[in-house]
Amino acid sequence: MKTIVAKFGGTSLADADQFRKVKAIIEEDPARRYIVVSAPGKRFPDDIKVTDLLIRCYENALTHKPVGELLTEVRDRFYEIIRDLGLHFPIDDEMEIIRRNLQKKPELDYMASRGEYLNAQILAEYLGFTFVDPAWSVCFTRDGQLDPVTTQRAMAAALHPLDRAVIAGFYGADEDGKIHTLSRGGSDISGSLAAKAIHADLYENWTDVSGLKAADPRIVAEPRTVDYLSYRELRALSYMGASVLHTDAVLPASELEIPINIRNTNQPEDAGTMIVRHFPPAKQKYPVVGVAGRPGMTVLQVEKVMVSDGAGFSAILLDLLKKRDLPFEQCLTGIDTVTLIIRSDLLSTCKDDLLQEIRDTLNPDYLGVFEHLSVIAVVGEKDPGSIANVKVLNALSLAGIEIDTINQGAGKLNLLIGVPEDRYEDAIRAIYGAIEA
Ligand code: ASP
Repeated sequence: MKTIVAKFGGTSLADADQFRKVKAIIEEDPARRYIVVSAPGKRFPDDIKVTDLLIRCYENALTHKPVGELLTEVRDRFYEIIRDLGLHFPIDDEMEIIRRNLQKKPELDYMASRGEYLNAQILAEYLGFTFVDPAWSVCFTRDGQLDPVTTQRAMAAALHPLDRAVIAGFYGADEDGKIHTLSRGGSDISGSLAAKAIHADLYENWTDVSGLKAADPRIVAEPRTVDYLSYRELRALSYMGASVLHTDAVLPASELEIPINIRNTNQPEDAGTMIVRHFPPAKQKYPVVGVAGRPGMTVLQVEKVMVSDGAGFSAILLDLLKKRDLPFEQCLTGIDTVTLIIRSDLLSTCKDDLLQEIRDTLNPDYLGVFEHLSVIAVVGEKDPGSIANVKVLNALSLAGIEIDTINQGAGKLNLLIGVPEDRYEDAIRAIYGAIEA
């Protein structure tokens, strides 16, 4: 029988109405057997996520401020869901345990995880599924790092005997039973770990949008929804700022080539976005799946005559960055030039000192620093004849946008273009217009 792991995000489980939608979705396909949940999220734009309320409880407890009202707010969020769905979950007993633990010793990860812990139990009761506490199956080291190998074993052992289960997302525990959370939005990772552990046929990630857009909808009016893209393309787009799935959620599922389907709980009829290893031959492949970008970059340009004839210049330069723990986004080498693109916020802490050391160590003929650059990635694994690239460059030129840097590796996954920050949005619109034409 086919097995689907379905993860529902915070907005999908924000109130009783959303729970009803989730139940209908799960019951519509019997293959949806393992359900991973987030804590209740925002019901309206100014609402507060339960996880944020719990983090505030911890902060107040730590600084000896009152926590009573905040805990009541958390309790009421769950109580309304339980009451509206006619369930019998003992929320007051559970809240009492949480309150006592908070008083005894405030622990951030324990508190932050309680939203998922309670929500998963409530959904399990509503669906008639077994509740699985990831404290026993998502394994962390004592210093709070996820241990994927032990997790794989423990999660497979916990899920295999169960026909249907609801698993709380976002947290796990170490061998002493101490709770640790993943990074924010980490229930996406929990879902992917569960999909891998159970060798699922599909990992569905249910959220409040109908998939990944080919460009940022705040910049481009009504961009196309990407129907299929590869794991690598998703990684490139998420790195550049497109957010639809936690970046670390791709790896576990992709290791077993489990497709990931981003779906909309509020519009379940939409097919959403499918993330796969290999593009299905029957589907039309856009040469460019999407465009995304990052403002806030600085370019360092180092020039020295005859440097291309020798060896080691770039290595020395990169070593100066490494010494400062300063990562770079791109390193482009030309004839007698090395150009580095670095995040301005990271560079700002050591800029003067780094520039001085470059001068002292490498004695360059020219050292230029250009701030306020945006880098745009035009992402697509297949661009036969580089036609999209030609269109993109042409569109930027027609829009009068200066191209400061340009970079494409042999793998051809992305064309990376640096443009002035004040033309960033114009550039995204021009590029999107060109690739869709
Ligand atoms: N509830 C957690 C958060 O708000 C984790 C998650 O939703 O995935 O970040």
